[in-house]
Amino acid sequence: MKKELRVGVVGCGAIGKEHVKRLTEVVPETRVTAVSDYFEEAANQVAKEYGAKAYTDSYALINSDDVDAVLVTSTDDTHAQFVMECLKIGKYVFCEKPLALTQEECVAMMEAEQKWGKRLVQVGFMRRYDRGYVEMKKAFDDGEVGEALMMHCAHRVMSEAPGFQTDYAITRVAIHEIDICRWLLNQEYEEVQVLKVKQSRRTMGDWLNPQLVMLTTKDGQRIDVEVQSDGAYAYDIQCQIVGEDGTLNLPDPAFVTKRSGRGFEHNLEKSWIYRFIEAYDVELKAWAQDVLNGQLTGPSTWDGYAACVASDALILSRKTGKPEKINMIEKPEIYK
Ligand code: NAP
Repeated sequence: MKKELRVGVVGCGAIGKEHVKRLTEVVPETRVTAVSDYFEEAANQVAKEYGAKAYTDSYALINSDDVDAVLVTSTDDTHAQFVMECLKIGKYVFCEKPLALTQEECVAMMEAEQKWGKRLVQVGFMRRYDRGYVEMKKAFDDGEVGEALMMHCAHRVMSEAPGFQTDYAITRVAIHEIDICRWLLNQEYEEVQVLKVKQSRRTMGDWLNPQLVMLTTKDGQRIDVEVQSDGAYAYDIQCQIVGEDGTLNLPDPAFVTKRSGRGFEHNLEKSWIYRFIEAYDVELKAWAQDVLNGQLTGPSTWDGYAACVASDALILSRKTGKPEKINMIEKPEIYK
């Protein structure tokens, strides 16, 4: 008989709705049986559209017998509490990034997870499922450009929701590069820094923009990440590994190009939703299959923790104006 994974989704905002649709239409292994949101109307509306049960109490959803695994897509500040609730009862949970607001919360999660003797948590670092990044990693791991010397990255965003703050450029935006660069290079970070740069007149609120994020790996590779958290001309993601024997570039543009009498043209994306739409599909399909097989292989609690430690050090560096060391606990066995 076909195995089915009954999923409960916590948070019916922008990405929550996208993921409910994705789990229903793209992932054959899953059925969304429950959805929750603080805002009752949001939960009711999604529940009605997809034939799920609506909750306003997300703890009740997590503990429901109709939910085999949980997807957390609520606001950043709520992630840790819901992941911990899942870990309390041993339920698989997929949590959108960031895993938590503090590294201490991530350590507590790792302690709780280890008691079950296996991984239960996956973090939503979907770029690891993007075709371009996957091909870059394979080429790098196959030694096609030799040892990596440095990386150059850009993360340019057109606009952010009201209430955006300077720190969010790290914890919500650059967090993707923090994760993908350590994944691509198979490295942890030694030291990080935020450098002050000329500010854009197109910044829409009272926050620093752009910011230049510098990451140094344990092997001494330097990574520069230009972060434009709003006001950019498009949603534009760039990534280059400079190796001793060559360079590897994330496909740019990511989509079809046109050559005509008018010249060489291509569109630029406006939003993360479309740029990474296939990566999200692959990510959730892989997660569902892994849960059904009882063995997670995607980004782990350790990866969520590593991103949190780097984010904290970057925010501190912006305040001190100096590079800040990365201090991590020893990696527990189940994440090796
Ligand atoms: P959003 O539109 O604000 O959605 C969050 C939803 O969660 C809102 O409907 C909110 O309800 C609800 N919520 C807040 N507290 C809750 C609680 N205690 N219980 C249940 N629901 C609660 O935000 P979003 O853009 O979808 O982002 C959601 C999360 O996904 C964020 O953590 C974000 O970082 C992450 N994300 C990841 C990616 C990625 O590339 N991987 C992309 C986008 C977003 P109210 O409106 O009533 O507060």
